[in-house]
Amino acid sequence: MNIFNKTRLIFSFFLTIISFCAYSQANVFKVTLDAGHGDHDFGAVYSGRIEKNIALAIVLKVGKILEDSPNINVIYTRKTDVFIDLVERANIANRANSNIFVSIHCNANKNTAADGTETYVMGLSKVASNLEAAKKENSVITLEKDYKRKYEGYDPNSPESMMAMTLMQEEYLDNSIALATKIEDNFDRLGKKLRQGGVKQAPFMVLHKAYMPRVLVETGFVSNPTEGNILNSEEGQNDIAKAIAEAIISYKREYFGSGVPEIADARPVKDTAKPKTVATPPANKNTPKGTVFKVQLIASIKKTPLEPKNFKGLTNVTMLYENNIYKYFYQETSDYQAAQKYLQEAKSKGYGASFLIAYKDGEKISIQDATK
Ligand SMILES: [Zn+2]
Repeated sequence: MNIFNKTRLIFSFFLTIISFCAYSQANVFKVTLDAGHGDHDFGAVYSGRIEKNIALAIVLKVGKILEDSPNINVIYTRKTDVFIDLVERANIANRANSNIFVSIHCNANKNTAADGTETYVMGLSKVASNLEAAKKENSVITLEKDYKRKYEGYDPNSPESMMAMTLMQEEYLDNSIALATKIEDNFDRLGKKLRQGGVKQAPFMVLHKAYMPRVLVETGFVSNPTEGNILNSEEGQNDIAKAIAEAIISYKREYFGSGVPEIADARPVKDTAKPKTVATPPANKNTPKGTVFKVQLIASIKKTPLEPKNFKGLTNVTMLYENNIYKYFYQETSDYQAAQKYLQEAKSKGYGASFLIAYKDGEKISIQDATK
């Protein structure tokens, strides 16, 4: 073998390794687990049941299960009893380019009969009890130095005030609801141990600052003697951790992997927290025949007039009202290449979370099916 061939062989060997590494990196699903509170921030405390300790114990158990599953990388905001700012918790997930962010807490109420799990997605709520939970969890920012400047004057007693900080809060809402639904469904499978409170929406600061599908799990009420004792027990924590970890693994299977970039994987979300709601069907009058692609810009609980100035100058924006949520789409084309160009355009305008969706004869289908 001459030196030229040898060099070429070595070169292609390294190229193979590099592309293999790039491939496996792209196929690793990154989960940031956030154990609420820590150190001098105890969270809720009732009869020796301490939220910060329970949250950490559950997080470590969830993490252990995930670490034992293939192609999952677990990032922890804390693995010990330390205090971490809310914004830093979110930033740990942001810096890691995490695929999902899961914050784990316990609920509490003066009424010690209150019970049940609740899994929250980010968003504005008019429901007093949802706002109460957010207010309680957000109030820990007052333990941080200089919180007024850091949180842009946000008043933790008024969770609604957060909504004024940024418009269009509900990026990643579809995926967040899908993950939250899986977690709550798994809690339901624990039988009578924990009452399933369901998926809810409220403005949590820690979710607000994380730029990925994200949920906050209130794993039950430490204030309730029966539920609190389950939360404080090894067995109870194992059950809860298993339920959360399996939901995450199921979410990964459905929304990530199989070699298809996650961004292209926009399957319809199954029943959300409000199945009673009648979805307004899309304007079916002139449903295009065949396959069409659209760019989903955002999902929002707010109705926004379809003017370019409301969509960073983008024209041809359409809207669909589904499960209490307004979805806004950019363009419509039967050409996949063109659709990808539109997607890039949307991203360059600042819609970083936008993704492609596809319809066949008016029915939503996966991008994989659409491009077959
Ligand atoms: Zn908490």
